[in-house]
Amino acid sequence: MVDHQAPGADLQATHQAISSCQACALHEGRTNAVPGAGSSHADLMFIGEGPGFNEDRQGIPFIGAAGQFLNELLASIGLRREDVFITNMVKCRPPNNRDPFPGEIEACSKYLDAQIEAIRPKVIVPLGRHALARWFPNESIGKLRAHPRRFDGITLFPLYHPAAALHNGGLRATIEDDFAKLGELLRQAPARTEQQPQPVTASLLDPAPPMPAAAAPLAAPVQEAATLDEPSVSIEPPSSVEQLAQAAEEPHNEQLSMF
Ligand code: SF4
Repeated sequence: MVDHQAPGADLQATHQAISSCQACALHEGRTNAVPGAGSSHADLMFIGEGPGFNEDRQGIPFIGAAGQFLNELLASIGLRREDVFITNMVKCRPPNNRDPFPGEIEACSKYLDAQIEAIRPKVIVPLGRHALARWFPNESIGKLRAHPRRFDGITLFPLYHPAAALHNGGLRATIEDDFAKLGELLRQAPARTEQQPQPVTASLLDPAPPMPAAAAPLAAPVQEAATLDEPSVSIEPPSSVEQLAQAAEEPHNEQLSMF
């Protein structure tokens, strides 16, 4: 039974467990585990890939160049870091910033599950394809970005990882536009539902792509970091909440009923 009156207590226990976790090989090279940071009552939760060099040194997520850009994006919609919760798929830095292996993501998924359950945000933003794969393992971030989806009482709103703009400056304006839509979505998203956690099943997202078990192993290690978050499909997302509603009728976005 989740105690929704004291999410901070749940979160604190989870973060203590992460700090001493040795469930996968990533613990061997870490300086600090990076559980996540922000408000335990946040309406908005961001999920990235994994800690980098600076994050590992300080135990704080998103503090490098990508983190600075994320701060700017948050400010553009009137939010500060302490208003949201920011974490990653894996809580320890992969060596040389390589992509996390499927087994590492699977080993760490219990902590992300616990964080989501403790915080129960209105909106979860998977940042980039690794976080997207938790819910949609066979979809591209370029296709699903800025398309809201409902899952277990929470809205998913995938976006490019801010680091994508560092690799490809042409994506900066796209990410900024998508963040403006996020701000609009957050204002209009319904209050959190206090429903009990449900098994992750395809029926929750029907007729969307099949829902895997949380962090189900991927078929193979993910691609080179150099291709991080590069869009493989270019589909312009809706430009307004009204268009989001219209898009909800389209085959790739049909399961959203909130708009
Ligand atoms: Fe544990 Fe996650 Fe760190 Fe692996 S990455 S050691 S599962 S906290």
